[in-house]
Amino acid sequence: MAPDPFRCGIVALIGRPNVGKSTLVNTLIGQKLSITSPRPQTTRHSLRGVLTTGTAQFVFVDTPGFQTRHRGALNRVMNRSVQSTLESVDVAALVVEAGRFGAQDRALLKMTRPGLPLLLVVNKIDLSQPAVVLPFLKKTALEAGFAEIVPVSARRREGLDQLLRAIEMNLPCQPAIHAENDLTDRSERFLAAELIREKAFRLLAAELPYSIGVEVEKFEDLGGLRRIYVAIVVGKESHKAIVIGSRGEMLKKIATAARLSMEKLFGGKVYLEAWVRVRTGWADDEAAVRRLGYG
Ligand code: GDP
Ligand code: MG
Repeated sequence: MAPDPFRCGIVALIGRPNVGKSTLVNTLIGQKLSITSPRPQTTRHSLRGVLTTGTAQFVFVDTPGFQTRHRGALNRVMNRSVQSTLESVDVAALVVEAGRFGAQDRALLKMTRPGLPLLLVVNKIDLSQPAVVLPFLKKTALEAGFAEIVPVSARRREGLDQLLRAIEMNLPCQPAIHAENDLTDRSERFLAAELIREKAFRLLAAELPYSIGVEVEKFEDLGGLRRIYVAIVVGKESHKAIVIGSRGEMLKKIATAARLSMEKLFGGKVYLEAWVRVRTGWADDEAAVRRLGYG
């Protein structure tokens, strides 16, 4: 019997903010590539995470959480990014939490093209009782033509083999599109900026992180040592003071945490310099949003 042909394709993870899409991508490829936090809307950029096995290559695309409630240039650009991602994928996995399947999920499904294989991934089953999960799985099975419904816990690494099998069956037969050892399509420069943003999201209180952008001014790779210079961009003078913190302590905390994560991800020493820059109202200004690398 001839061996099964190699399969390869692009898999979009779509879903409302905070359902665990980025955590799932990181867990599946075994590296912390995509930034995550308990706050919705941490992910602003699509990012590819590549997993190659003996029989298939999975190219996961982590998308920003689709948002229908908030307006503003940043959200507009993010929603467009979800839409354009969906046009070029081979499989779409809609990620939800058990018990929650609503209007925003149906709106997302409407954005998929006819014939695109759809999977429903019910994440965070570690948080729900079987008495909630089981009826939910039954009910959603009746929703718009899912090829398969897979309950998982990204946090506890449960159900991931079943998920990979379900995806693989729906991938086209074709050779790998990325090198076997590739983890992502994004540069270290990009990943560095994202890690700064992740620490800001985790360490700063309240709404402030949403108005933060990060610009890498210089990235030098001196073989073993990377020297990285970044500006944290805020929209208001008063935000600058908060990000810096009293005696510079907040900025120092963000930079130290980011540096440690970068060293882990890049596998080498990092020298990091970070400062804060005010660019009034940048998140409301589409041109400024693009300058910061969105869209
Ligand atoms: P995204 O906005 O969909 O990308 O969601 P994130 O991956 O950023 O995750 C949002 C939050 O949910 C984070 O605090 C994660 O740690 C948490 N989370 C993700 N997956 C699981 C899971 O399987 N179980 C539990 N309990 N929490 C999870
Ligand atoms: Mg995310």
